[in-house]
Amino acid sequence: MRQSSLVVVANRLPLDDSTAPDGACEWRRSPGGLASALHAILQQTPATWVGWAGGTGEAPSLPDIGTLRIRPVGLSADELHGYYEGFANSTLWPLYHDAVEQPVFDRGWWETYRDVNRRFAEAAAEVVEPGGAVWVQDYHLQLVPQLIRELRPDVLIGFFLHVPFPPPELFMQLPRRVELLRGMLGADLVGFQRPQAAHNVAQLAVKLLGAPVTANDQITVDGRTVRTGAFPVSIDVTEMQALAARPDVRDRARQLRTDLGRPRRVLLSVDRLDYTKGIEHRLTAYSELLRDGRVKVRDTVMIQVAVPSRERVENYRVLRDRIEGEVGRINGEYGRVGETAIHYLNQPFDRADLAALYQTADVMVVTPLRDGMNLVAKEYVAARADDAGALVLSEFAGAAAELADAFLVNPHDVDGLKETLLHAMEADQRDLERRMAAMRAHLTSHDILAWARAYLTALDRTGRIAAWLRR
Ligand code: UDP
Repeated sequence: MRQSSLVVVANRLPLDDSTAPDGACEWRRSPGGLASALHAILQQTPATWVGWAGGTGEAPSLPDIGTLRIRPVGLSADELHGYYEGFANSTLWPLYHDAVEQPVFDRGWWETYRDVNRRFAEAAAEVVEPGGAVWVQDYHLQLVPQLIRELRPDVLIGFFLHVPFPPPELFMQLPRRVELLRGMLGADLVGFQRPQAAHNVAQLAVKLLGAPVTANDQITVDGRTVRTGAFPVSIDVTEMQALAARPDVRDRARQLRTDLGRPRRVLLSVDRLDYTKGIEHRLTAYSELLRDGRVKVRDTVMIQVAVPSRERVENYRVLRDRIEGEVGRINGEYGRVGETAIHYLNQPFDRADLAALYQTADVMVVTPLRDGMNLVAKEYVAARADDAGALVLSEFAGAAAELADAFLVNPHDVDGLKETLLHAMEADQRDLERRMAAMRAHLTSHDILAWARAYLTALDRTGRIAAWLRR
C-alpha cells in the first residue's frame, strides 16, 4: 500500500467520469465549486485524493493524475440514495442553508451516512503516512474526522466546511446533532468560510457537550484542543485572467454579443439549478422591471445559465419545472420574434465558455438566499481585467464579506433587488471601474493558493505541507 503524507478526502474525485481510451484521466471540472477550488493546487503535490468516482457498484481502479494519487471509494445504489441524495443533500444541505427548503429527517439515511463515512475514513487511514495529515472536505463527510482519529491517532486531521454552518437553533433540529458535532470535532482544525460559523460551533459545543471554549473559539473535547477559524475559499485568479485574455475567448465574447442582437446591456446569472441560489427571486424582480417598463427587451437581454444538478432529488425536479415555467411565461409575455427576454441555458459550460460569458455581461447577477462562498461571483471579477462590468451580489453569499464593492442586495426584498439592478445598470463608468479594481485587487492577494496555504499552515504549523503547494 502506497502512503502519502497529505491525504485529501472529499465526496467526489476531481476527475472525469470517463477515462480516456489511453487510460489517462482528465481533471473533471464539475459544476460544483469544490473540485474547481482544489483542482488548481493539488496537481503538483505528492498527495492522495480519496473520493467517489461517480456511478454505482465496485470502485473502479484509476491511475494517478500527475503526482496526485487517486483512491476511489465505491457506492452502491442504496448508499447513493441514503448517503448522498438523502442525508447529505436532503437533510444537511437544506438545514445548513437556513432551511430555505424543509430538511427531511429519515432514520434510514442516517445509518447509511454513518456507514459510508466509515468507509471513507478507513480508506484515508490506509493511505496516510505515519505522522501525516488528512484534510477532510465538506458536509458529506462530517463524521470522518472522528472516525479517522479512532483509527489513526498519530495523524493531523483537518476539516473544512465549504457550506455555511447554521445558527445553533437550526442545528438543534438535527436528530443526530451530538454525533455530527462530535464527528467534526474529531479534527485538530475545523475551518469555515465565515467567522460566525466558528462561533456557532463553539456555542453548540458548550450547549451539547458541555465543552470548555475560549474567546477565540478553541474548543476542548476529550482533553484535546480543537482549533476553529475562518478561511474563505477562493478561485484560481491567474487561470481565469489568462482565459479571459485569450484571443479566441475574446472573439467568442464579441460573437455572443452579436448573436444576442447587440443589446445595450447584457445581464448574466450562472448557477447550479438549486433552491439556495435565489433564481426565482431574480426572475420575479426582472419580470417586474419588464412589466413596469423600466427595462426594455430590445435594449436589455438576460442570460440565465442553470446547470442541471441533483436531478434524482424530487425538490430539484420540481424547482426546475417551476423555473422553466416562469422563464417561459416571461418570454411569452415580453419577448418578440427575434427578441428574447431571457436566454435560458440548462446545460454545463466549460471554463473558456464561462470566461467569454463573463466578459459579455455588463451586469452579473448573483442572488443566493444563502451560499457558503459563491465562486461564480469571484470568477466574474477575475475575468474583468478591463475593470468594466457590475456585480450585483447577495448579502447572504460568503463572498459578500470580501467583495464589499459589489452592489450588495437582500434578494428577499424584491423592490430592493429591482432598484439595485437598475442602479447597477445605470452606474457611471468611473464608479464601476473603481469598484471592480478594488475587488480585483482583493482577489489577487486572496486566491485559491493563499487559501490552501493559510489553512494548511494553520493545520501543520511546521509549514511542511503548505510548502508543497505550487508557486
Ligand atoms: N461552473 C462550471 N460550468 C458551468 C457553471 C458553473 O464549471 O456551466 C463552475 C463555476 O465556474 C464555479 C462552480 O462551478 O467554479 C460553482 O461554484 P459556486 O461556488 O458558485 O457554487 P456551487 O455550485 O458550489 O454551489
